Amino acid sequence: MANVTIHIADVFELTKIGSFAKDLTTRVKALFDDCIAFANKSVKQGDPPHTSNIVIATAAKPAPGKLDFLVYLLPIEFHSIAGAPTKDNLLADHWGFTKLEQGGAAAKCEIIAKLTQGDVIGSLVIHEMLHYKTAKGNNALHPTGGLGAATVDAASQLNDANRRDIAANLKKEITPWLDGWDICAGAKARRDGGDPLWNL
Ligand SMILES: [Zn+2]
Repeated sequence: MANVTIHIADVFELTKIGSFAKDLTTRVKALFDDCIAFANKSVKQGDPPHTSNIVIATAAKPAPGKLDFLVYLLPIEFHSIAGAPTKDNLLADHWGFTKLEQGGAAAKCEIIAKLTQGDVIGSLVIHEMLHYKTAKGNNALHPTGGLGAATVDAASQLNDANRRDIAANLKKEITPWLDGWDICAGAKARRDGGDPLWNL
């Protein structure tokens, strides 16, 4: 069995607006629990089931394990920290980016919060998790459809390809990228201190 936690690192406290945090947690939990239930159908009777947890980290740096998933939520005024081709978030035509490293043994992952709608961002969390866990690039993942499709929104539905992709990789070890937290925390401190160049 695997105990998998999705850590959404929200250093800039973007999810404190309205019902963003609640809607984000609700959407991610619904989608991920569906995948966990699918995976648990293959667990032998008597063995402990896979479990899930969702955490939005705003104040304290998370300490995810290799089975967990860590994604950074970035403001549109900031820039890519994971190495997206378009560094300026405002100019990016994508919403999320996952950079695999060491042949998929490590990965960096970020989402640009282009809007404060938790259900939309929640779909993006699962989309990027699919990239992260499967090590599939755009050409391999996007044709699988559902939450793996090139474009996802609040109404996107999981399909069995997505469920299989998550279930098959629950125990795959990937080293999460923790330095992103410090990069974001440094920028936030500069912003809160009134530095006009905080986002450079
Ligand atoms: Zn994608």
